[in-house]
Amino acid sequence: MPFRTPRIVILGPQGAGKGTQAGRLKHRFHIPHISTGDLLRGEMARGTNLGKRITSTMNAGKLIPVQLTNAVMKKRLAERDCRRGWISDGYPRSIGQARPFLKFGQPNLLIHLHLTDKAAIKRLSGRRVCPRGHIYHLRHDPPKKRRGYCDRDGLKLKQRDDDTPKAIRQRLRIYHGETEPVLTWLKSRIPTISVDAHQSIHHVYREILDDLKHFPWLLSPKKRR
Ligand code: AMP
Repeated sequence: MPFRTPRIVILGPQGAGKGTQAGRLKHRFHIPHISTGDLLRGEMARGTNLGKRITSTMNAGKLIPVQLTNAVMKKRLAERDCRRGWISDGYPRSIGQARPFLKFGQPNLLIHLHLTDKAAIKRLSGRRVCPRGHIYHLRHDPPKKRRGYCDRDGLKLKQRDDDTPKAIRQRLRIYHGETEPVLTWLKSRIPTISVDAHQSIHHVYREILDDLKHFPWLLSPKKRR
C-alpha cells in the first residue's frame, strides 16, 4: 500500500475538543498541530500589525477575513515541519477557505467531532487555558498539580476573551451558518471519520484511533521515521 503523508482536518463546534484531540494525534503521528486560532492569538500576543487588526473581531467571536486566514495558513503549511504531514484544527471554516485549501493543502482525511450546542456552551464556560495554549476544564480535566495553574509550564490559567456567553453564542451561530456547509462539502471529497464528542476525552480518542484502522496508510508513524 503506498504511503501517504497524513494531512488531517479536524472540525466540529467550539468545545468539541478539537484542540485536545489534535494535541494527542500530533504525538501519535509526529506531525505538527496547526490551530488557526492559536496562530492568530499568537499574532495578537506579539502585537503585530495583523494582530492589532484582528483583536476586536476575535474577541467578538467573529471570523477573521478569508484572505487573511488563507494567507496565514498557506504560509504555515509551507514551513519545513509540515513536509511529513499536519493536522489542521479550526481551518477551513467557510467555503471561501475550503475551496482554495483543497488545492494548496490537499487534505486527505477529515475528522468530524459532533456535539450539541447545549453541551458546547457548558464546556466552553468551564474551559481554562494557559498562555502557551494548554487546555483544561474546571470539571472534566482540571490541572492535577496546582489548582488554577498549568501542569506543564506552571503558568496561571485564564478564561479566553471569546469564551464569554455572548461570544460563544456568536461563534456557534457562525459554526452552523458557515462551517457546517464546509463539512458537507469536504465529506463528499475526502475520507471522513465522524465521532460523537459527548463522550470523555479518552473515549473520543479511542474511537478516533479505532476508526483510523480503516486508513492503514496513516497508521504506522514509526515506519515513516
Ligand atoms: P478557535 O481557537 O479555533 O476557537 O478560534 C478562535 C477565533 O479565531 C475564532 O472565533 C475566529 O475569530 C478566529 N479564527 C480561527 N480560525 C479561523 C478561521 N479558519 N477563519 C476565520 N477566523 C478564524
